[in-house]
Amino acid sequence: MLQDSFGREFHYLRLSITDVCNFRCTYCLPNGYEGKPEQTFLSLDEIRRVCAAFGAAGTRKIRITGGEPSVRKDLADIIPMVKATPGIEKVAITTNGYRLPELVDQWADAGLDALNLSIDSLDPGVFQSITGHSRLHELLNGLDRAIELGIPSIKVNAVMLRGLNDKQFEPFLNWLKTKPITLRFIELMQTGDNSEFFARHHVAGEQLRLWLLDNGWNQALRAVDAGPAQEFYHPDYQGRVGLIMPYSKDFCSTCNRLRMDSTGKLHLCLFSDTGIDVRPLLKSDDQRDELIEFLNNHLRDKKVSHFLQDGESGGTRHLAMIGG
Ligand code: SAM
Ligand code: SF4
Ligand code: SF4
Repeated sequence: MLQDSFGREFHYLRLSITDVCNFRCTYCLPNGYEGKPEQTFLSLDEIRRVCAAFGAAGTRKIRITGGEPSVRKDLADIIPMVKATPGIEKVAITTNGYRLPELVDQWADAGLDALNLSIDSLDPGVFQSITGHSRLHELLNGLDRAIELGIPSIKVNAVMLRGLNDKQFEPFLNWLKTKPITLRFIELMQTGDNSEFFARHHVAGEQLRLWLLDNGWNQALRAVDAGPAQEFYHPDYQGRVGLIMPYSKDFCSTCNRLRMDSTGKLHLCLFSDTGIDVRPLLKSDDQRDELIEFLNNHLRDKKVSHFLQDGESGGTRHLAMIGG
């Protein structure tokens, strides 16, 4: 098992397959994708080798992310390939849902275990003003289809934004009465590019946590291998609420994830200063053990937490770079 010098075990990999995105979320890529066209993303063979090494080193879950993973044409090949990797028990995806209605059947057939869909508002106008896209209706249809198909874990991510979607909690909660999903409110994180936006729109999740506890919601016990989200349930609601509060005390003490960006750089933290290039170790299947040793050596340098509370977001300009 991959382990750092603080005894944290890493059984979860977030693997970005592209940093390209077709949305313009105000907190992430307000001007749309501005990457370098000459950039070459990991090939299918390289992705297979990353998964093989992590699977052999004890990783049990891989989340495919981006940028927007569904802009990659070979995503339909990537999902079953990740799923077939020895050691990997769960394959998940995080998506803006742009192509969800047309792709979700294919993903379910390929064995997708978990779908995280980003929906920052249920109001089409607010949704459009945050994401730059007007496809909320299609996206919600795609979500219903995912539920119908029985994808085992379905979560919706909503970033809390003061003055933009903070009037949406009530409709969101009403929606959960009949939706068997987990809706996770994420505290806005400061990145290199969004400092001004962060200062205007950050809302602390603690207020919502206290409100939930005062209004009949109960905090669920954390599984031993759970990540940093806190979950709440209510007897009158089919859905659950999750809270991701990266500025809260001890957020990083349960860190169980590593990240690989779409050009083959390992990020020990979402807010690390720089990525560590593993691409030279992805040239042939024979390099697997060398790659595992490389990972173990670098894990010793993983820091105890992020330093966001000091306004330091490392080298992360926006989360589309690494995969959120
Ligand atoms: N494009 C896909 C999507 O939006 O679901 C996957 C990548 S996106 C970077 C992953 C998640 O990060 C999304 O749920 C998004 O809302 C969230 N995110 C992006 N920037 C963020 C920020 N500055 N603070 C908090 N969450 C952020
Ligand atoms: Fe694209 Fe996701 Fe960033 Fe929105 S949050 S701009 S959908 S990468
Ligand atoms: Fe782990 Fe870094 Fe996220 Fe903290 S901020 S949970 S250390 S990846």
